[in-house]
Amino acid sequence: MNTIPTTYQLSYWERESFFRDIDIAIIGSGIVGLSAALRARELEPSARVAVLERGPLPLGASTRNAGFACYGSVSELLDDIDKQGEGPVWALVERRWLGLQRLRQRLGDNRIRYEGLGGFELFRPEDEELAGRCTDAILHFNRQVRPITGLSETYRMANDKIKTFGLQGISQLIWNAGEGQIHTGEMAKALLEKAQSAGISIFYGLPVKALEEQPTGVEIHTEYGWSIRAGAALVATNGFARHLLPELSVHPARNQVLITAPLPGLRLQGCYHYDRGYFYFRNIDGRILLGGGRNLDEKGETTDEFGTTPLIRNSLLRLLREVILPGTEVPVEGWWSGILGLGEQKAPIVRQVSPHVVAAVRLGGMGVAIGTLVGEEGVEMLCGRG
Ligand SMILES: Cc1cc2nc3c(=O)[nH]c(=O)nc-3n(C[C@H](O)[C@H](O)[C@H](O)COP(=O)(O)OP(=O)(O)OC[C@H]3O[C@@H](n4cnc5c(N)ncnc54)[C@H](O)[C@@H]3O)c2cc1C
Repeated sequence: MNTIPTTYQLSYWERESFFRDIDIAIIGSGIVGLSAALRARELEPSARVAVLERGPLPLGASTRNAGFACYGSVSELLDDIDKQGEGPVWALVERRWLGLQRLRQRLGDNRIRYEGLGGFELFRPEDEELAGRCTDAILHFNRQVRPITGLSETYRMANDKIKTFGLQGISQLIWNAGEGQIHTGEMAKALLEKAQSAGISIFYGLPVKALEEQPTGVEIHTEYGWSIRAGAALVATNGFARHLLPELSVHPARNQVLITAPLPGLRLQGCYHYDRGYFYFRNIDGRILLGGGRNLDEKGETTDEFGTTPLIRNSLLRLLREVILPGTEVPVEGWWSGILGLGEQKAPIVRQVSPHVVAAVRLGGMGVAIGTLVGEEGVEMLCGRG
C-alpha cells in the first residue's frame, strides 16, 4: 500500500513528541496562519505554537494569487462606497496600506521581490459611463488617501500610457502611483522559513475535521480519526472556513489564472485591473500572469473545488490575444486556480467564536495587503491582547 490510510491511530511516541502540550494551534498555513503564528511567538515566547495545514503546501489562495500589493482601484472604491458608504471604505484602505507596510517590514522588500511599479485601471469604450464617474472621483479620492499613502497624487489619468503598453480596445486608463507587486511564492516561502526558525511546528498534510470546546482548551479532531489537544485555536482557513465554522458568513470563490511563456520585449510593467477588477494581469519574470473572469459564471465559480473551465479559459485567452498582446500568438505555459473567501460584507472576520477559538477569515481579494494584520489581530484576540 502506498497511499495514506483514511483513518489510523496515533502512536504513543507521536502523541508525546509531536503533539503534546500545544498551547496555540493555528489551522491553515496561508499568509494569515503564518503571520498569526509569528505574532503568537512574539506575544508568548515560551508557548508551543503549531500550524496544522491540510495540503503539502498551503492549498487555498496565498501561494496561488496574483501578488498585487493593492489597496483599491478607483472603480473598486466607488463600488464599495455605493454599498457601504465612505467611512468604512477609507478605514479599509488604511488597513490595506498598513498591512502592506507590515508585510514589507516583516519580510523585507528584496526577499518578497516587492516592486512599486504602479497599478493601472483600464476602461473599454463601453465602460464610458463608469470611466466618467471614476475620472470625476479622482480629485476627492486623492484628498482622502493622501494622509494614508503620503502621496500628493495617488490616482491620475494616464491615457498616453495605453499606446506605450500596446493595449488594444482600451479608451481610458487611470494610474495608481502607490500600487506595487510582490513575488507570491517568495513571500510564502519567507513566511515559512521565518516561522520554522522561530521554532514553530508546522504539520503539512493534516486536515482538521472539527473543533470541540473543552473546559481548559480545544480538542482538534483530524480527518485521520485521531485528535490533538490545544490550549486555544485560531481558524485561518479563509474560503474553507464554513467546513469548521458553518455559522460564519464566508463563501468560497474560485479564480482561474494563466501564465505565459517568457515574452521577449514585453512592454507591460505593473498591475493591471480590467472590467471593474474582475480580470487582472501583471508582468512577472518577463511573462504575463492573467486571471479572473469569475463574473462570467458566478454560480459555477462559487466553489472550493480547484480546477479550470473552458468558458473562463477561453475568455482569458481572448483577453490576452485581443487586448493585452494583440496580434501576437502568445504561448501559455500553465494554468491553475485558487480559492478566495468572500462574504456579504467586504471586510475580514476576526472574531472569538467560542471560549478557546478565534476565526480570522474572509480576506476577499485583499489578502496580500491585509493578511498580515488579520493574522496578527486574530492571535492577539486569542491571547487576550486584542
Ligand atoms: C487567483 C487569486 C488571485 C488573487 N490575487 C490577489 C492579489 O493580487 N492581491 C491580493 O491582495 N489578494 C489576492 N488574492 C487573495 C489572497 O490571495 C487571499 O486573500 C489570501 O491569500 C488569503 O490568505 P489566507 O491565509 O486567509 O487563506 P489561504 O491562503 O486560502 O489559506 C488557508 C489555508 O487553510 C488550509 N485549510 C483549509 N481547510 C483546512 C482544514 N480543515 N484543515 C487544515 N488546513 C485547512 C488551506 O489548505 C489553506 O492553505 C487572490 C486570490 C486568488 C485565489
